[in-house]
Order: sequence, then C-alpha cells, then structure tokens
Amino acid sequence: MAATILDGKAFAAKVRGQVATHVAALKAGHGIVPGLAVVLVGTDPASQVYVKNKGIQTIEAGMASHEHKLDAATPEAEILALVARLNADPAVHGILVQLPLPAHVDAAKVINTIDPAKDVDGFHISNVGLLGTGQKALVPCTPLGCLMMLRDHHGDLSGMEAVVLGRSNIVGKPMAQLLLGESCTVTIAHSRTRDLGAVCRRADILVAAVGRPEMVRGDWIKPGATVIDVGINRVAHPEDATRTRLVGDCHTQSCAEVAGAITPVPGGVGPMTIACLLANTLTACCRAHGLAEPDGLAV
Ligand code: NDP
Repeated sequence: MAATILDGKAFAAKVRGQVATHVAALKAGHGIVPGLAVVLVGTDPASQVYVKNKGIQTIEAGMASHEHKLDAATPEAEILALVARLNADPAVHGILVQLPLPAHVDAAKVINTIDPAKDVDGFHISNVGLLGTGQKALVPCTPLGCLMMLRDHHGDLSGMEAVVLGRSNIVGKPMAQLLLGESCTVTIAHSRTRDLGAVCRRADILVAAVGRPEMVRGDWIKPGATVIDVGINRVAHPEDATRTRLVGDCHTQSCAEVAGAITPVPGGVGPMTIACLLANTLTACCRAHGLAEPDGLAV
C-alpha cells in the first residue's frame, strides 16, 4: 500500500490564509489588529531563526509583531517585568517567550507569569489544567497542528485507537489530551514502555514525538494507520559527510509502505506549528474582545 502523504506545508498555508482573512475582517469591522509579542533572550541560532520566521509570518497574516530581544545575561527579574508590561498592554493579544531560556532563568516561573489569556504557546499551568479537564484552553501549537491535520484527513476521530509515542509537556501529553478530547482510545508510550512495536501496531493513529531519528519502522505500523511524525532530527547526509539532512522519528519509506497516510519530514507537522501560533493569537484576540472565534482553528 502506498500511503497518502499529508502535505503540512500546503495545509499550513491554508490555515495562515484563514487566519489572514479573519484578521482582515477584524480590522475592517472592529478596527482591531491582533498583536503577537515574542521575547527572545540570548543568541541561540535555532531560536533566532524561529523568531525571525514567526515575525515574518505574523506580519504576512496582517497582525502586529512586537519583538523583544534581550541579552543572554538579562536578569530574571527584568524578564518578568517585561512579561508583566506585555500582560498589561492592550495591543498585545499573544505572548511567546522563546525556549530554551538561559540557565540562570527559571523558565517555569517566566511562563507562569504570562497572562493565561495571552499564553499562545499554551504552556501556562492554567491552560494545561483547562486542556486536561476538557475546558476551553489555549493549546500548544505543535499538537494543535497535528490535531488539525488528523481532523482534516479523517473528520470524526471518535473511537479510534491512538498511540502517542513520547510524553513531553510540549508535545506528547497535550497531544494525548487532545486525542482523548476527540474520544479516541489513547495510549501514551515512552522510554520505559515494554514492547513498543506491539503497542504501536495497535494504533489507528500513531503520533511519534520522541526525537530519535527514524526509530519507528514499517513493521511497527498497523496496515492503513495514519502516522503523524513530529520528530525533527538532523543527521549526517548519507552521500556527503559535509552536509546534514532532516529526518523524522519515523522511517518514512518503510512506514509509508504499510500506513494509509503519513506526514513527511520536512514538510509535514513542522510548518503547522507557526500557523497554529498565528491561529492561537487570533483566538486570544477574539476572546479578549468577546468576539466570535474562527471555526476550526481552536479547541
Ligand atoms: P522530549 O525529549 O522532551 O521528549 C521525548 C519523549 O520521547 C520522552 O517522553 C521520552 O520518554 C520519549 N523517548 C525518548 N526515547 C525513546 C525511546 N527510545 N523509546 C520510547 N520513547 C522514547 O522531546 P519533544 O517532545 O520536545 O520533541 C520530540 C520530537 O519532536 C523532537 O524530534 C523534536 O525536535 C520534535 N519537535 C518538533 C516540533 C515541530 O514540528 N514544530 C515542535 C516540538 C518538537 P521518557 O519521558 O521516558 O524519557
């Protein structure tokens, strides 16, 4: 069987288009411009690229982008004071503090200082609790993107067997909560799980978020299953030692021979993350103003 390739790049462009249309209507109808503030502390090269891309796509969607770049040695108190100012700023509807933060800063303290209503990364303990209890929350962007792709492909997910490989706070756990919210039967597997292959073979939906290059092979996949590969791993290029290439947590070729559908790496889940950040900012803005939220962009 040749699996359907779920094109996250195209789907993310569609989501960004929906966001931009709604933003234009907010401006025209209410004079409101959603604003996203991004705080970057230090000069981590990957973080700099992420923040730059987030800024570009925020502006392309018609929103205001507020970037705050701080020196790596900035004291924690100064970062907390900036977050407090952003919490109080009515032009800012979403706040994202780029992780990782330098070692001298307590990341949990900073995240939990963000107003939960502006916490567009969905990492604040209040949003974690709301999601865990099935209430309206701001949901972490990567799992939200995975869910959107699954809903788009399957429609109703109710009753499906879902296995989430990985139990991190930013991907695995919220992904499992979202799938539970869709009435899937959810198993969370991790590094202590016995016989991972047997667990994965139960899955109608397999979400892999382990950070282990091409760990999941075709013989772990139930025929016809949908495989969502969250992993982003940089490995040596097989033909050229001076280059690297990106691979997922799944061995795409062998998995695609068995699966019904699979997300590629790159071009699968990756592009959905920023699209969902924009969607969350729009959702936060609509909620702040008591306006109707766009359909299908939030849970
Ligand atoms: P973490 O390292 O925080 O968590 C990895 C999880 O995988 C842990 O729960 C760990 O188990 C489990 N795990 C690790 N090794 C194994 C193994 N051999 N067998 C079974 N389980 C294992 O990673 P993240 O959740 O942050 O990220 C996962 C992947 O997703 C990474 O490749 C990351 O780059 C990518 N990613 C992609 C994003 C995007 O597309 N935009 C965004 C975020 C992440 P245990 O808890 O027992 O240690």
